[in-house]
Amino acid sequence: MLQMKRPRKTKYNAFPLHVKTGDTVMVVSGKDKGQTGTIRRVFKDRGKVLVEGVNKVKKATKPNPMFGIQGGLVERETPIHASKVMLYCLQCNKPTRIKMESLADNRKTRVCKHCQAQFDS
Ligand SMILES: [Zn+2]
Repeated sequence: MLQMKRPRKTKYNAFPLHVKTGDTVMVVSGKDKGQTGTIRRVFKDRGKVLVEGVNKVKKATKPNPMFGIQGGLVERETPIHASKVMLYCLQCNKPTRIKMESLADNRKTRVCKHCQAQFDS
């Protein structure tokens, strides 16, 4: 099988992402298109995100009695590329693009392009 070469790990933010852990996102491309879920983890070095209930694969697992693992085909989520997800606005109930806005106390927040709802306030 052809193995994809992973990008080299860097100290800084190699892939600036528009999403964070805990965000609600909608998948806009691929086999899970249309699904919404919460971001569990962000892999900044690979530009990928792990979304709850999205991109499930069946993994053949060996039983390991030491850790109480039964073995067999275990379904689990795998990370998908961050470009496949869009931030989901809970106020206008649709996936949205964001813009940055400064708050009064010099912090920055992501703002919904449609309804101006703030995501990090
Ligand atoms: Zn909105």
